[in-house]
Amino acid sequence: MNLLNFIAQFPDEESCILKYKEIRDNVGVKCSMCNGSTHRWIENKSQYECSNCGNRTTLRSGTALHGSRLPFRYWFIAMHLITSTKKSFSALELQRQLGHNRYEPVWLMLHKLREVMGKRDEEYQLANVIELDEGFFSTIASDADKDKPLKRGRGSQKKSKVLVMAESIPVDGQTTKKGKPRKVGHIRMIVINDLKSETIKLLVEKNIEEKSIIDTDNSNSYSKFKDIDIEHRPQIIPKDKVNEILPWVHIAISNAKRLLLDIHHDIEPQYLQSYLNEYCYKFNRRYFGDKLFDRLLIACVSYKNNN
Ligand SMILES: [Zn+2]
Repeated sequence: MNLLNFIAQFPDEESCILKYKEIRDNVGVKCSMCNGSTHRWIENKSQYECSNCGNRTTLRSGTALHGSRLPFRYWFIAMHLITSTKKSFSALELQRQLGHNRYEPVWLMLHKLREVMGKRDEEYQLANVIELDEGFFSTIASDADKDKPLKRGRGSQKKSKVLVMAESIPVDGQTTKKGKPRKVGHIRMIVINDLKSETIKLLVEKNIEEKSIIDTDNSNSYSKFKDIDIEHRPQIIPKDKVNEILPWVHIAISNAKRLLLDIHHDIEPQYLQSYLNEYCYKFNRRYFGDKLFDRLLIACVSYKNNN
């Protein structure tokens, strides 16, 4: 959706509330007291009332907007900006664009949206043929690490480890428009604390369908793949062949690095996952076009807030 269409469709708070309610009606409301799913809408209170127990639910309650006092329209604008650009927005930039006086609620809103995106992607497993490798992303030393001496040559920067998986489907004897022997499907990036074979095995079990084929280098980190129901094809990969043998996983890593650095500069390690969530969510829906805004809105409404 372009900016003019967005403004025409959502000119004010009222239009955003109506849209949010329309989607919530479609998704369905669950009563937090009795789990009942039949509700009536009380117009003058702007609340749902459970037909079973009479418990009231606000429009935001139990969704991603739970607990936020920012106007619905701020959320809509944030979702529009995130879904209509290839890049992203920092909280500071968004705060400026909204003319809001406080940074924190805007920051929280963006992080909630990224959490929603991460949760959505977690619902699907990658399948078929998958390239897998680790990426090392620059982050700043967290408070806990500040007193430790840093390794030489890295200044105040640390590297955070990220497990990266990319569906990479062979295009039988041909090449894609970009001259690649395989075409990329969905990707996933997960921040990990260590490269132990057990850590990586558990994440592969969770994120990749059984019977899939996984291509990797011959690192020891993958030694436990033999315990799970996948076909593992480890290869010794000479440095100059990496981009040939595992093309997509490396393109994904370098694109994500460039984008993150560009927007967020000094990334604290505990927030890296959040930015990666957004990157992967948008990459995985790169052909959605205008539908992406609605999809994110539906994900926000469907998000189960446990607070
Ligand atoms: Zn109820």
